[in-house]
Amino acid sequence: MKKIVLPLLLLTASLVSAQKMSSNKKAIVDAVEKHKAELVRISDSIWGLAETAFEEDQSSKLLADYAEKNGFTVERGVAGMPTAFVATYGSGSPVIGVLGEFDALPGISQKAQPTKEPLNEGAAGHGCGHNLFGAGSLGAAIAAKELIEAGKLSGTVKFFGTPSEEKFFGKIWMVREGLWDDVDVNLSWHPGANTEADVQSSLALVDFKVEFFGQAAHASADPWNGRSASDALELYTTGINYYREHIKPTVRIHYHIQDGGQVVNVVPDYSKLWVRVRDTKRSGMMPVYEQVRKMAEGAAIMANVDYKISLISGIYEVLVNRAGGEAMQKNLELLGPIKYTEEEEAFGKKIQEVTGKPQLGMDSEIKPLLETKEHPGGGSTDVGDVSWNVPNINLSVTTAPKDTPWHSWAVVACGGMSIGHKGMVYAAKAMGMTMVDLLENPKLVEAVKKEYKERKGDEVYEAIVPDGPPPIDTK
Ligand SMILES: [Zn+2]
Repeated sequence: MKKIVLPLLLLTASLVSAQKMSSNKKAIVDAVEKHKAELVRISDSIWGLAETAFEEDQSSKLLADYAEKNGFTVERGVAGMPTAFVATYGSGSPVIGVLGEFDALPGISQKAQPTKEPLNEGAAGHGCGHNLFGAGSLGAAIAAKELIEAGKLSGTVKFFGTPSEEKFFGKIWMVREGLWDDVDVNLSWHPGANTEADVQSSLALVDFKVEFFGQAAHASADPWNGRSASDALELYTTGINYYREHIKPTVRIHYHIQDGGQVVNVVPDYSKLWVRVRDTKRSGMMPVYEQVRKMAEGAAIMANVDYKISLISGIYEVLVNRAGGEAMQKNLELLGPIKYTEEEEAFGKKIQEVTGKPQLGMDSEIKPLLETKEHPGGGSTDVGDVSWNVPNINLSVTTAPKDTPWHSWAVVACGGMSIGHKGMVYAAKAMGMTMVDLLENPKLVEAVKKEYKERKGDEVYEAIVPDGPPPIDTK
């Protein structure tokens, strides 16, 4: 008896779920399915190209061309960045935006297999799954466009091709250009190790360069004639490391020594670091940033050298939108969890074995919407800057097994095979369905905007970048 009851229950559950889905949402699912093979082809091509910061020429073109082929009007090279573009379809309000990233990370090339082996030794790899990100978002935009074209919905859809998320945060210059000024609500997603309507913020961040200028001399014959830029560098990082004891636990300070001198028998006259300060709120980050800047002067005085600080860029923490998150959550519940084959589960478990994690396999369970944490952990994203200029709804979709080390070969591996493809297709459907909600229901748009205004308060957004063009020539 039990053996019969269980399948019946499952059948009933899936019927209920199918009944709840409106005809427009079903049309989104069908449209994404129709484009699936092409979306996978684009994602795989971007995965193979693995182009990094501001060099994503072919990856950007693949997405922009497919948007154009599907009837979008594409403006390329926006905000002074050759690989940034905006693809628009439709007219009038509401205007719904969606973000698509496509840049890779240097040095983590990997084959689509569950053990570490580079595809091209020393080359870049999609260790954050941005090949899936761009293709999935474009799938959602195209599906919504087809409903507008068929007269089922009215409004405008805009796909934003956003370069260099990993290094210089290209969205800052797109925001500064006012590209979201006419957008009512924006959507975004990110590949991850779980599936959830994402209502957590991210960390604000500021990047700057510190250079020390001394006097070269023979390290043994006449060191008294030298003033060492590497002494200053060491004193500076020592100061930073003492300072760590006196900062809040939410603050992070990282540095990368980019030049510490060339040879052992010369007193170095030049040194250079890339410094990054983060905190869960920009208001907490800025005083730490000021202090870490001041310390460069202290180090320069001690080593009797000159110094220079140059701001690279900085990004805001994400402004969460729970009203939008709730709409997304309902669509995840309608879609249900991603289902994996035995081979995919085995692939996931192998990655967990190799990376020393419990072999739990894939996690795509749809859990209830989480509380928004005041101080989230994790990384930073330039989606933050978009979210302070337009209400943003965020989504995370499983594209790698549970506990996968991010920005690593393991993420590259999953992004180039069916585990990643399934997540990308799922994201396209969930975001397309949420676009249906926004295009059909002005009250939802109003609620999302109201929450955005309340959370933003009196804060005036100011892009944390130097005046002038994006740092394309100085990458
Ligand atoms: Zn990412």
